[in-house]
Amino acid sequence: MLVLGIGIFTRNILKIRRNIFLGKKADLSDNTPLRWRNMAKIALGQTKMVVRPVAGILHVVVYVGFVIINIEVLEIIIDGLFGTHRVFAGLGVIYDVLIASFEILAFLVIVAVVVFWLRRNVIKLKRFLSPEMEGWPKKDGNLILYIELVLMFLFLTMNAADYQLQLMGSEHYVRAGSFPISQFLIGFIDTLPEATLIIIERTAWWLHITGILLFLNYLYYSKHLHILLAFPNTYYGRTTPKGQFENLEAVTKEVQLMMDPSLDPYAPVAEDASEPEKFGASDVQDLKWVQLLNAYTCTECGRCTSECPANQTGKKLSPRKIMMDTRDRLEEVGKNMDANGGVFVEDGKQLLNDYITSEELWACTSCNACVEACPISIDPLSIIMDMRQYLVMEQSAAPTDLNNMMSNIENNGAPWPFNQMDRLNWSSEPVK
Ligand code: SF4
Ligand code: SF4
Repeated sequence: MLVLGIGIFTRNILKIRRNIFLGKKADLSDNTPLRWRNMAKIALGQTKMVVRPVAGILHVVVYVGFVIINIEVLEIIIDGLFGTHRVFAGLGVIYDVLIASFEILAFLVIVAVVVFWLRRNVIKLKRFLSPEMEGWPKKDGNLILYIELVLMFLFLTMNAADYQLQLMGSEHYVRAGSFPISQFLIGFIDTLPEATLIIIERTAWWLHITGILLFLNYLYYSKHLHILLAFPNTYYGRTTPKGQFENLEAVTKEVQLMMDPSLDPYAPVAEDASEPEKFGASDVQDLKWVQLLNAYTCTECGRCTSECPANQTGKKLSPRKIMMDTRDRLEEVGKNMDANGGVFVEDGKQLLNDYITSEELWACTSCNACVEACPISIDPLSIIMDMRQYLVMEQSAAPTDLNNMMSNIENNGAPWPFNQMDRLNWSSEPVK
């Protein structure tokens, strides 16, 4: 089971890696110390999560609990492979402290999961009710809470039965560990015979490890992939100021030539300044790999959408949907390749229009609130800008207002439809 669980998981991770690198190259080897610091602060330290204290602190509990309790999984695996029981018991007092802290964390995880469930299903927070959250995303959010709940109960049940067997002096159940939470479950099982207790302990043990392996493989299909991908994603998050947009070198050079006739148009161009095959992005392969990593990492938390001024004022745009659509399309492209021997066969679809409409793209004010709000350094705006670039530069499909403004800048050097000679007229107008 272990080999199968880890094998399928590895295969799926390799598939995700292949899909991410369908994106265009991006050199993010700069600023290494800053990148490590960002990862430690944002992914490990969860600093952006606690901006919203209730959800943030509960999330930290679930995260720490889940990671630390899984140290127990290591013991379970070793016990399972070698037929030992509580193989780390030799650690003495340290083992007691470890088991006690696992139990307290398991209890806190149960409390946090119940609150999360209530927020989603009873209180019905607005950000969990957007149209993009209907269907699978809603089910996924709840399913993961149920899985965590079941895993924690199995862990505590296993410990309670084990503790009772220890108290009975049962053979094989060495006296080890401290059980501050599961001791309260003993009242339910202390009258059962030894054989039944062993069945309960073994069943909980097997279901616990089976559940962990299933959970590991469920990650691939879930927003919970962020448990793993938040680390590389925060490492490769942007290190430049948020308001700074990237220019296409080829376009910059073109404009410089127009503005400065003394420049030599035949001067050799830098490698990245040659004209690209396509301007902007209409499908996932046109995006950079880090944008595709962003899409796989999105937790669908909706913090971006709840801060988005376009969304708040009733526009069709939701930055969370931009990320979810990008991931869905990327998955579709990946499956297409799997079905065609590793080669993508044109399917008549693309990210633009089939997933994300130009109405959504043009609703964006490019304010960066979504980027600021994201707890794991995702940049939905960069995808929006790349897709807009495609609309403008490949399809000349900018909205009329924008086209007028661009013509004015081209003809008048200003966004307004006035002759440059008239620019200072306002200064001589009489003050009323
Ligand atoms: S940058 Fe665009 S998508 Fe992001 S919050 Fe602002 S308006 Fe919304
Ligand atoms: S982009 Fe970030 S803030 Fe928005 S839903 Fe995804 S994880 Fe949450």
